[in-house]
Amino acid sequence: MLEIHQFLCLTDNFGVLVHDPVSGATAAIDAPEAAPILKALADKTWQLTDILVTHHHADHTQGIPELKAAFPNVRVVGPAQEAAQIHTLDETVKEGDVVRVGGHAAKVIEVPGHTLGHIAYWFDKDSVLFSGDTLFALGCGRSFEAPSEVLYRSVMKLGTLPAATQIYCGHEYTLSNGRFALSVDPTNEKLKKRMAEIEELRAANRFTLPTRMDLERATNPFLRADDPDVQAALGLAGADPAKVFAELRERKNHFRG
Ligand SMILES: [Zn+2]
Repeated sequence: MLEIHQFLCLTDNFGVLVHDPVSGATAAIDAPEAAPILKALADKTWQLTDILVTHHHADHTQGIPELKAAFPNVRVVGPAQEAAQIHTLDETVKEGDVVRVGGHAAKVIEVPGHTLGHIAYWFDKDSVLFSGDTLFALGCGRSFEAPSEVLYRSVMKLGTLPAATQIYCGHEYTLSNGRFALSVDPTNEKLKKRMAEIEELRAANRFTLPTRMDLERATNPFLRADDPDVQAALGLAGADPAKVFAELRERKNHFRG
């Protein structure tokens, strides 16, 4: 059984530790900030063995040097396509590669869009996905380095994973994502119910992650660009879902909710 410990870094980044109790192996998913990751390791009395990087942005990589200094044998794994931007990688991976954390294995899924080389880590036997800044609860990342069609294909690629997949992502953005989701999918009863739960969690200063793939498919507008209600709310009934997705992404960029 994989143990997962999630905590806050910086302002709204998640730090996540993945621990295999049998071997003692522990991986950090990205490294937004060293201090809270080191504190989480100390709290759990876990030794850091691996860092799995999803993409090159500083708020996912800037903690790596300090973690390497504290754990000199740590192995840093990241996307081959971003090796030139992430100078701290020990191993590079690409689509279909398998990354082991002790006795557990993650499949690498390439999901370009937010950045060109962005990857996700899918522990398929454990039903856990680390989606970085590609798929968020009720949202998705911005398409910084590619046209939105590229990000659309990546988001939909993750959307095909099994319904019970637990999803961890890079940021606690769910409340603002949900306000936008309601603006473009106002009659979705599952979304309304979920938003009520999210408001309660955030009011109690609790995390809204992990989420589940079936819940995202039912409530995340970026996975619902082919849904007639979402299309109608945007005035794009019958349009190509990739175009609907582009419109969603554009509106979200300017949304103040
Ligand atoms: Zn990012």
